[in-house]
Amino acid sequence: RKSSLYTSAPMGPSDQPDFINLVAEVETTLTPHQLLDVLQSVEQEQGRDRSVGHWGPRTIDLDLLLFGDRYLNDERLVVPHAGIAERNFVLLPLNELSPEIFVPGRGTVAELLVALPDNAGRIEKLG
Ligand code: ATP
Ligand code: MG
Ligand code: MG
Repeated sequence: RKSSLYTSAPMGPSDQPDFINLVAEVETTLTPHQLLDVLQSVEQEQGRDRSVGHWGPRTIDLDLLLFGDRYLNDERLVVPHAGIAERNFVLLPLNELSPEIFVPGRGTVAELLVALPDNAGRIEKLG
């Protein structure tokens, strides 16, 4: 399943266009690291340029937000994604899939949304 598209103010450097965000839910027999390999090869195919610096403009960024109820923390993979609880552009599309989605160690998406500060960045759902 996938969410609608959301346009959001860039995090970090502000001299760049808005981002477009969505989340997708997939069923897979891959391990988390194999899934990350797939995500990174799609980023490469789509022309991701890693020279623009962290949080700069990019063609595409595919992050692994959750992997069921698993916790992972190694040099390649932190799951749940380290920014998940602070990012409205992650929580709003997740909430569209289901407010009951559980972020291990943090709570439900609905709970995390309520706890978001009012000054979280500008975001708008696209049609
Ligand atoms: P952010 O993590 O703040 O969203 P980013 O997505 O722009 O930043 P990238 O340059 O895409 O960061 O990825 C940097 C590294 O983060 C990757 O090489 C990858 O190994 C690592 N990483 C750790 N956890 C994850 C995750 N859950 N999903 C995707 N990449 C991850
Ligand atoms: Mg990212
Ligand atoms: Mg990334």
